[in-house]
Amino acid sequence: MATIGPASCTPDLLGQLVEAGMDGARLNLSHGTHDEHRERARLVRATEAELGRPIALIADLQGPKLRIGDLDGPVTLTRGEDILVAGGETGNDGELPVSPAVIGEVLQPGHEVLIDDGLVRLRVEEVQAGRARCAVVSGGIVTSNKGVNLPGVPIPIPSLTRKDMDDLELALELGVDFVALSFVRSAADVRDLRALLEQAGSQAHVIAKIEKAEAVDALVPILRETDAVMVARGDLGVEIGVAMVPLIQKGIIAAALERGKPVITATQMLESMVHQAEPTRAEASDVANAVLDGSSALMLSGETAIGEYPVESLAYMDRIAKAVEPSLGYRHQLPEASEEPTVGQAMSNAACDVAETLGAQAILVPTYTGRTASGVARLRPRRPILGLTHHDYALRQMALEWGVTPLLIPESADVEDLWRHSLETARKHGLVEEGDRVVITGGTAVNQPGTTDLIKVAVA
Ligand code: PEP
Repeated sequence: MATIGPASCTPDLLGQLVEAGMDGARLNLSHGTHDEHRERARLVRATEAELGRPIALIADLQGPKLRIGDLDGPVTLTRGEDILVAGGETGNDGELPVSPAVIGEVLQPGHEVLIDDGLVRLRVEEVQAGRARCAVVSGGIVTSNKGVNLPGVPIPIPSLTRKDMDDLELALELGVDFVALSFVRSAADVRDLRALLEQAGSQAHVIAKIEKAEAVDALVPILRETDAVMVARGDLGVEIGVAMVPLIQKGIIAAALERGKPVITATQMLESMVHQAEPTRAEASDVANAVLDGSSALMLSGETAIGEYPVESLAYMDRIAKAVEPSLGYRHQLPEASEEPTVGQAMSNAACDVAETLGAQAILVPTYTGRTASGVARLRPRRPILGLTHHDYALRQMALEWGVTPLLIPESADVEDLWRHSLETARKHGLVEEGDRVVITGGTAVNQPGTTDLIKVAVA
């Protein structure tokens, strides 16, 4: 996955990114105008049509993020000095405005105020008349609109701000495949967004960005509600401390895998490639470890949005991922009674076992929503997984799943028709050859989601 920005938004560059392995394009709605995002979405769809490869389009909402308001110019803060922090878009002379205006309600002496991903750190000394007098702990230059984090402090703003509602309207207009929600705090935040999507008749899936301690604590209920999660390591590192990020990353990925929900690992994957053509060894290890942890997808941010080497960054990430993937073990699971057993999960387990035992050429998953393909992918079988659907949205949503090749099939009248379309399409794309043995898992009640009830061994 790549964040699309000024550095990657030409037909030529987008084509190169797709050729280098990009399956998903993120529009980061924290930056840029609606017209810029419209143009980016148009180019992504044009590239997809030209290259014949489904690309998931992701609208990433800013969420309830605090930001520095309007400053006349950069403000330099020096360690040891005091600064007044005030709620609002603008402040009086010598004050730092933080918007929305909740600072006076939530801050108490001893709290930390972190600016620009924690590069500038303040400690609250006293709060009076809606203003917090803070000591500068780590100094630096502060400019308008920089992010502000208050670790561990509950912030009384709705999960979807007025800006998010405007941006969601844009996302619906663009027909995005995923809406990512920033600063999720509870399962209710995910439910609220889903209700709005359903109301609008959108099929977009929700990605819950895990970047607050509250979300880590509520991970299981959030996973129940959401379609996918993102380990949003940028803000997570600011909110809970960088030292905690690696273990929490592993925990989030394991919990998502357990429930068959796609999980994206994001931020600073190849940060040095914003300005250099080669990654550091530590970055290569980080990418490799994110794959070994079980990530379904990896996301580039600044590297492709504003970096000097967007295509090289994506190609490197793809190369590193491919180098470690063969070492991933098949996650054979004994069919224990799980917390929430589903027929789909049991069928996926069994289909993978059959495919592994027979050395099948591929696992074919005709699917209405893509959910069964995720159920199969979570076991990391060593056979190609072909996700076959007649829905464009499911096709693009499967593009973010680990190891799944999404393929479009015609709508089927009955189950015989579904198998025939699946086999024909797999052959047409050269993914299986006549005579190959394959395993198919799907539902006999075609065109009804959530009805996987069959495993079939077939010859292509
Ligand atoms: C993050 O914080 O890691 C993240 C992915 O969110 P954003 O890029 O919107 O800051």
